[in-house]
Amino acid sequence: MRVMVTGGAGYVGSVSVERLVAAGHDVLVLDDLSTGHGGSVPAGVRLVRASFGDPDDVARAMAEHGTEAVLHCAAKSLVGESVTNPAKYYRANVVGGVMLLEAMRRRGVRRLVFSSTAAVYGTPEMTPITEDAPLRPINPYGETKRAFEAALAWYGAAYGLRSVCLRYFNVAGASEMHGEVHAPETHLIPNVLLAAAGGPALNLFGDDYPTPDGTCIRDYIHVEDLADAHLLALEATALDDARTDSQLICNLGNGGGFSVREVLEAAERVVGREIPHSIGPRRVGDPPVLVASAGRAGTVLGWQPTRPGIEEMIGSAWAWRGRHPAGYGE
Ligand code: UDP
Repeated sequence: MRVMVTGGAGYVGSVSVERLVAAGHDVLVLDDLSTGHGGSVPAGVRLVRASFGDPDDVARAMAEHGTEAVLHCAAKSLVGESVTNPAKYYRANVVGGVMLLEAMRRRGVRRLVFSSTAAVYGTPEMTPITEDAPLRPINPYGETKRAFEAALAWYGAAYGLRSVCLRYFNVAGASEMHGEVHAPETHLIPNVLLAAAGGPALNLFGDDYPTPDGTCIRDYIHVEDLADAHLLALEATALDDARTDSQLICNLGNGGGFSVREVLEAAERVVGREIPHSIGPRRVGDPPVLVASAGRAGTVLGWQPTRPGIEEMIGSAWAWRGRHPAGYGE
C-alpha cells in the first residue's frame, strides 16, 4: 500500500515508518521538521518537507506518490503550551487537520489512521477507561484532538472517509533505529534517563496524589507495540472492510499502570545506579490515574501488545540513547 505518514520524522511517526517499510509498504513522509528530525527518515523513504495544513503541497505530494492511505501522526502535542497558546493548537490540530482532509478529498484518498490521545478523556470518573467514557478534555491539546476525531466521523458519514482513531496512552521506549528526542523534553521517561546520564535531576511532580505511593499512575506502552497497531488499523480502513463502515476508535495501552516512583525505580534497575531526583509540587492538569481498557483494539484489530514490561521499555530507550548520544545529530 502507498501510505503517506504525516509527522513521519517524529518519535511515533518514525517508528511507524520503520514498521510500515518492513511490512513492504511504499511510504512517503510528510513533515515540516518543526519538531521532527530529518535524520530519522530512513534511506530510501522520500521526505517531503511541507505542512499537512497546506492542501496544495499535500495534494501534490499525494499525486506524485499515488497515496492510498494516510497515517496522520503530525500534531502540536505539548499540553502546557496548549494552555498558554491555544491558537497554535487550534490552527495546527484542527484547521491544519481539516486542510489535510481537504487535500485527501481532492485526491480521492479515503483511508486515514489518526494519532489521538487519552487526553480526550480529561480526568476520568472510572478506570480503566473505555472508549465510551465521556470526552471532557481539560486542556486545548485534548480538546483539539477531540474536535478532529469528530470531524473524521462527519467526513465519514458525508464523504465516505474511513478512519481509525487510536487514543494513545503514554508512549515509551525505542526501536533499534528510532527513539524519542524532544526539545524541550517534558515526558517522564526521557527526563529520568537525562538525569541518569548526568543531566538535571528529575523533578517528580507531586507525591500527594490518592494513589498507593502518592505519585501519578500512567499506562505506558512500547512505541513498537503502537507501530504494530498502526499497521493493523491501516488494514482496517480498506474500503470493503466492515470494521470502518463507521469510524473506529480504539484505546492503545496495556491496561495496567506504573506510578512515577515505579518508573524511577525501574530506571534505576536498568541503569544500575541511583538517579538524582527531588520532589516538587504537582504539575497543573495531571489526573492521578490514567489507565486504558484496550480490549477493543484486541478484539476488533487483533492487536496484542507484546512488550508490556516497564523495564523493557526503559531499557530500549536507554540503549537507544547510548547509541545516539547526540540524538539525530542536528
Ligand atoms: N512527570 C514528572 N516529572 C517529569 C515529567 C513527568 O514527575 O519531569 C510525571 C507527570 O506529572 C505525570 C507522569 O510523570 O504524572 C507522566 O508524565 P508525562 O509528561 O510523561 O506524560 P502525560 O501523562 O502527561 O501524558
